[in-house]
Amino acid sequence: MKIYILSLGCAKNRVDSECLAGELRRCGHELVDDVSKADVGIINTCGFIRPAVEENIAEILDLEQLKLDGRLKKIGVVGCLVNRYGADLMKEVPSVDFWANSEDWGKVIEALGGRSRAGRCRAMLPSSSKFSRYLKVSEGCDNRCAYCAIPNIRGGLKSLPVDMVVNEAQQLVVEGARELCVVGQDLTAYGMDFGGRSKLVELLDALETSLPRDIWIRLLYLHPSCVTRKLLERVAAGRQVLPYLDIPVQHGDSRILHAMNRGISDEELLAVFTAARDIDPDFALRTTCMVGFPGEKKTHFDKMKDFVRKARFDRMGAFTFFPEEGTKAYEMAGQVSEAIKNKRLEELMAVQEEISLERQQLFIGRELDVLIERVERGDEFAEGRSFREAPEVDGLVEVRNINKGLSEGDIVKVRMTDAMPHDMVGEVVAE
Ligand code: SF4
Repeated sequence: MKIYILSLGCAKNRVDSECLAGELRRCGHELVDDVSKADVGIINTCGFIRPAVEENIAEILDLEQLKLDGRLKKIGVVGCLVNRYGADLMKEVPSVDFWANSEDWGKVIEALGGRSRAGRCRAMLPSSSKFSRYLKVSEGCDNRCAYCAIPNIRGGLKSLPVDMVVNEAQQLVVEGARELCVVGQDLTAYGMDFGGRSKLVELLDALETSLPRDIWIRLLYLHPSCVTRKLLERVAAGRQVLPYLDIPVQHGDSRILHAMNRGISDEELLAVFTAARDIDPDFALRTTCMVGFPGEKKTHFDKMKDFVRKARFDRMGAFTFFPEEGTKAYEMAGQVSEAIKNKRLEELMAVQEEISLERQQLFIGRELDVLIERVERGDEFAEGRSFREAPEVDGLVEVRNINKGLSEGDIVKVRMTDAMPHDMVGEVVAE
């Protein structure tokens, strides 16, 4: 059958969708890039926060309409939203032919008349980038951040064995990957469930010794309370591990960090970033902040702005707190009004915008390797990313002065000529 998979949510969910795609292809099904070409439509859902839940339900109803219009033979809903609200959804949308929890792909295979086989196998989704792939090394989380529903949805930490990760990484490189973005709910906890301590450094050693030298390894989702000087030095010394660190801080005031159960104080947090800059001033530091956590007063928020000014991140994503059922913060007193949350979000992003620009301007005149992701033949320019830009969440490098032979997937030396808060402009350095 022709199958269309819509992968919603985070990078980890995209890997789950690719594993589902691999199993379906192994059973002889064909993956198509557009629902209009499909017999079966499947949504791999996200369910970790209310806005995502609403977006996903809208997508399910769209798929249901396509079936009711006779344009799809079967529809299936799988993944995190089913983990969280499956029983209710099954009553509300009875026209869905099959449902499955995350990674329970055997159910999908059987619903489509196949027999599930042992062994993990991934297939690229038509919408996946060939040159930049996600490498999921663990699922679930043993932390208990007060605002987060993920442990309720995906359970406790489950790390994949090092050799399985290395095999998968080598397979992705064979399929054309130039960059591997290593993901988990909390990468620093990798291996804690089978080694009692983090095995992230061992994993990086195994990846660097088993992959071709020109493959980029990028780390995403590091919990700050477990980012040690040893880990920072290992990343900085990496032959292929990019000097890029995604470390969500969530807040910059100890009282709120404590209420969030983040397990770190604002001073200890700042020490992580000071150490990072001390070890490598070029480290590209990305973070995530949350405003409007219950009990957050103006004084706490001012402290967070101060923290952001001191830490000088290259990239920052920021969100307003959202009360999630089943989390500690849902019942907490001192819920902040939407108006105040949105005003603080704007203020915080304005503080960061200036810092991002200053950090970008430091790279004008520098020559950086850029992974080319799109070539605009007509207009003689290309777009790509350097070590400083992660896929999907950060900006791009616009590359000018490109030569005729340049192709997507190439890594070329680019001299940076201009900087914006999120994007850079540069020109190819003649070989
Ligand atoms: S580290 Fe915290 S925020 Fe991240 S998945 Fe775990 S509980 Fe959620």
